[in-house]
Amino acid sequence: MKFDIITIFPEIFNSYFSESIMARAQKNKAIKIKVHNLRDFTFDKHKTTDDTPYGGGAGMVLKVEPIWRCVQFIKSKAKGQKSKSGSSLCSRIILFSAKGKKYTQADAKRLAKYDNLILICGRYEGVDERVAKNIADEEISIGDYVLTGGEVPAMIVTDSVTRLLPGVLGNKESAKYESHSEKNYLEYPQYTKPEEFHKWKVPPVLLSGNHQEIKKWRDDQSKIKK
Ligand code: SAM
Repeated sequence: MKFDIITIFPEIFNSYFSESIMARAQKNKAIKIKVHNLRDFTFDKHKTTDDTPYGGGAGMVLKVEPIWRCVQFIKSKAKGQKSKSGSSLCSRIILFSAKGKKYTQADAKRLAKYDNLILICGRYEGVDERVAKNIADEEISIGDYVLTGGEVPAMIVTDSVTRLLPGVLGNKESAKYESHSEKNYLEYPQYTKPEEFHKWKVPPVLLSGNHQEIKKWRDDQSKIKK
């Protein structure tokens, strides 16, 4: 899976993507992440990526032309490349927007089937609507609140999709049985050592060694949260 992220703040991604599972997934070639600086796709000497909104109003709006050029560049690089099955790369272009459809684990599963995700991060007052209408395949919101930019949403989508890809998580960390892996499923509570801390005890059943009882307790606990 290749992630192409379009942003005016490329540095933001360095730390998150160079740690833990995200770093390992890149090292193992399960994923490739390319962060594109939108400023590189401007032609004026000031590298302008935004402008004032038509009709007036506060703030600035990201311009359509640099985003168009950047997407064309990404597509031209992908041309001729084949997926693991030998077919042409299957891409999806996502625009992050507080107005978009709310992101869920089902979307992560759906997006994990593509070969290439192109993620467009908005900033300021947002992005020229012509990007949503003519360039993006879908608009995604990560929740009903407003962030300063689409970079955190891009990390969220990249992370949640990556951990579903084959070979990214070890057996122990399997994504098969965890919260949201099925509709309405929330995982049972987890405990680790010590058995007691400040008189807060681990449920005795987990120390019993009785696997049937432990499974029953976990199933019951999962149901409690539904
Ligand atoms: N004026 C916009 C509005 O009222 O909907 C908010 C713009 S926001 C300050 C700047 C950018 O952050 C957006 O273009 C989008 O890319 C990103 N963003 C903010 N909140 C988001 C959310 N909940 N989900 C996804 N992206 C978000």
